[in-house]
Amino acid sequence: MLRKELQVFSFKDLLEYYPFRHVDKTKVDKIASLSYNTEFAQVAGTLMSIELIGEKRSKRLVGQLKDDTGVMELVWFQGINWVQKILVPGQQYLVFGKPGFFMGKPQMAHPEIENYDPQKAGGKSFLEPVYPSTEKLKAKGLNGRAIGKFTFDLLNRLTEKEIPEILPASVVSQYKLISRYDAFRHIHFPASVQHHQHALRRLKFEEFFLAQLSIQLIKLGRQRFSKGLVFSKVGELFTGFYEKHLPFDLTGAQKKVIKEIRKDCGSGHQMNRLLQGDVGSGKTMVALLSMLLAADNGFQSVMMAPTEILAQQHFNSISELVKSLPVNVKLLTGSTKAKERKQVLAACEDGSLDILVGTHAVIEDTVQFKNLGFAVVDEQHKFGVAQRARLWKKNTSPPHILVMTATPIPRTLALTAYGDLDYSVIDELPPGRKPVNTVHRFENARPQVMDFIKEQLSMGSQAYVIYPLIEESSKLDYENLMKGFEEVKSFFPEPKYWISMVHGKQDPEQKETNMQRFVKGDTQIMVSTTVIEVGVNVPNATVMVIESAEKFGLSQLHQLRGRVGRGADQSYCILLTGRKLSNDARERLKIMTGTNDGFKIAEKDLELRGPGEMEGTRQSGALNFRLANLVQDKNMLEAARSAVESIIRTDPELALAENLPLKNYLQSQKSKTRWSKIA
Ligand code: ADP
Ligand code: MG
Repeated sequence: MLRKELQVFSFKDLLEYYPFRHVDKTKVDKIASLSYNTEFAQVAGTLMSIELIGEKRSKRLVGQLKDDTGVMELVWFQGINWVQKILVPGQQYLVFGKPGFFMGKPQMAHPEIENYDPQKAGGKSFLEPVYPSTEKLKAKGLNGRAIGKFTFDLLNRLTEKEIPEILPASVVSQYKLISRYDAFRHIHFPASVQHHQHALRRLKFEEFFLAQLSIQLIKLGRQRFSKGLVFSKVGELFTGFYEKHLPFDLTGAQKKVIKEIRKDCGSGHQMNRLLQGDVGSGKTMVALLSMLLAADNGFQSVMMAPTEILAQQHFNSISELVKSLPVNVKLLTGSTKAKERKQVLAACEDGSLDILVGTHAVIEDTVQFKNLGFAVVDEQHKFGVAQRARLWKKNTSPPHILVMTATPIPRTLALTAYGDLDYSVIDELPPGRKPVNTVHRFENARPQVMDFIKEQLSMGSQAYVIYPLIEESSKLDYENLMKGFEEVKSFFPEPKYWISMVHGKQDPEQKETNMQRFVKGDTQIMVSTTVIEVGVNVPNATVMVIESAEKFGLSQLHQLRGRVGRGADQSYCILLTGRKLSNDARERLKIMTGTNDGFKIAEKDLELRGPGEMEGTRQSGALNFRLANLVQDKNMLEAARSAVESIIRTDPELALAENLPLKNYLQSQKSKTRWSKIA
């Protein structure tokens, strides 16, 4: 039962089944003292009555609990049968929960409840743990309190020898941690609030420490055991391009990252680098210079983009940049025609091709390289880990891999979710960029917004109008887009204005044609769903209107806004919403209008949504912390990380006596996960 419902399989699991809070049994609130601000309350009183009210879906069980100051209503919508069975009118109960008010009367929905004996109460002064349980378990009498009893018995039987310390003594003393044994005792049954805090701190540290240790061991293993292709020289192509064809001076950040890449690719280890740079920070140029470096050393390169539009765009701009150099660049996507495709594949195989740009078509098995040395994955979060892994197999020694993402990832998240990668940041925008002026308007201001667009177009600019597409197949969203298109058209009639429309239901050619017309300036307005979210580069566009902006997440809004502000002119982003906004939506709008800094936005996004929801990290097991929290415990993560680093620096094999318990623990955990994989 415990096993199925709560995933509790062993003693260890039971010990790690932590209470979500503790109650102080000595403290009882009076009903009259409850207010709208009361977070949680514990009330003792007599159950006056209990009755079933309503029919079918609105069926609920309502009880009246009375103490010497007033009456509170108790309500259950679920588990009614079970509650009805155990509660007896006239008896005294102790209830705990979050109080609310219904028509001015205090009320508590689904309170925790137990029998109350005023004689006994007051004697217990320790903090009693409260465990999460499920309705099913409760039906079998296994509520949170029963779980607590199991745990209590278990802890009484286990000695310090059975819960040995696993962290090295030096770490325990340096970070002033309590022992593992004490921590498990106090996390469940603390003698005081302070004891509980010490236990919490110790166990959170341990979670971060173990996660960092396994990540850093993986990284170490890769660095030590994978042989990397060596790019030993900087040749004609790189220097020639750098000196004669570079259209602008590189920013300091771009130079720094190129240096890091050059160093890695010459080291004899395989590079596996995550490059983060806000939208418009100039990642493409870094990729191109790296690929030229590869070509200088006789290696081919591949650059993979998540959409046809992006692949096409990269191909166009790279071809243009290197057109006077002896570099052979080709494009391969799902819509490449058979004849062209054959030629491209042949050029990959015979080595005459230097740079292949494309969509995930480039990782298909039919694509064979003579000597692939460098792979760039653009806008990384659109690709899964498995797809990336296929790149590794394209050469007998895996190529160096540069993963580029414009979704800034908060450092804490990067350290955990991507901690095994090398990591570079372009933290500087090209000079002369003006922050995008961002405002929030309600939908009834659309005519004024359209007038504003007109004004901008009259100065030769272009504009985007974006509609949400929650699901690629959603009919409703699609209809909204069409309606929006007609509406925009009514404001901007042909032939004075021309409008492009791009959405997911068009075939690639149609998309490409519409896109190209906008890129070339043949159309002034681009009406689109979020297919243009990533990467598209039209520096002449200065207005971004986002319809139903309340439906977008922060990182998506930031990505979309990044499509403007790419040229020298002042750009604008207008977030249109309905009147009704959730608190979260309001907060997102506030953040967007308040800052252009992608990293700040990412931090906020992490705070609002939690790590599990962040893009690109969903499959990452590294984020499954029970106690630790990447937002609140940031500093502890840094501490755990530096503790791990210093251990790995001095004892990478964990062979020293002081590190042996740790090594043994890791091994025991490993064999356990293998078991669960087989099962
Ligand atoms: P992203 O990092 O979002 O992929 P891009 O590589 O598309 O950014 O670059 C955005 C724009 O900035 C492009 O038009 C590019 O030519 C330009 N750019 C890149 N680096 C510089 C630089 N150092 N100075 C001026 N403009 C630059
Ligand atoms: Mg880009």
